[in-house]
Amino acid sequence: MARYTGAVCRLCRREGQKLFLKGDRCYSEKCSVAVRAYAPGQHGQGRKKSSEYGLQLRAKQKARRFYGVQEKQFYHYFEIAERKQGITGENLLRILESRLDNVVYRAGFASSRAEARQLVGHGHFEVNGSRVDIASYLLRAGDVVAICEKSKGSEKFKAILEANASKPVAAWIDVDAEKLTAKVVNLPERDQIDAPVEEQLIVEFYSK
Ligand code: SF4
Repeated sequence: MARYTGAVCRLCRREGQKLFLKGDRCYSEKCSVAVRAYAPGQHGQGRKKSSEYGLQLRAKQKARRFYGVQEKQFYHYFEIAERKQGITGENLLRILESRLDNVVYRAGFASSRAEARQLVGHGHFEVNGSRVDIASYLLRAGDVVAICEKSKGSEKFKAILEANASKPVAAWIDVDAEKLTAKVVNLPERDQIDAPVEEQLIVEFYSK
């Protein structure tokens, strides 16, 4: 399935909550979820009842949209999560959190996951000293992400770092604000992941 190129705020309105897809605008009063708190489209303000399948589908779509992952890759992550020991839903969330674009965003090196994906794709980051430009690269505990030396002083990064300076960093990531590095201390436990995701519904969706 092709990448969604429409208005991203519609995705939040469809899910009925903020998915923080746009950076600073998400924290402002311009946020579309605050302005128009109903689903987009002609029938957006109509029927709200959902079947069990509908709830499971929405849970899956919401998680996909939150992390900016396409259907095929999302299902691939689910298959990996299923094969791992432990609770499948939590494994799935842990895999999604360990993506390089997510860690860049969680560390405050980008204002949104979409921006993080673009910055990674443009080669602005290194992992353990080697440049990595694949946003879906999965990090492990102990890995260190760094902004490339030549990108550190750029106006773009200065603006991003300044805008994100007051935002909290995920507890499982250790950011060195001087060196501009982020170390994955450990992969997160469920209670360290503040994603609006009902992972059990996703497991049920794929288990049919
Ligand atoms: Fe979602 Fe952000 Fe748009 Fe609000 S501003 S609807 S949180 S993408």
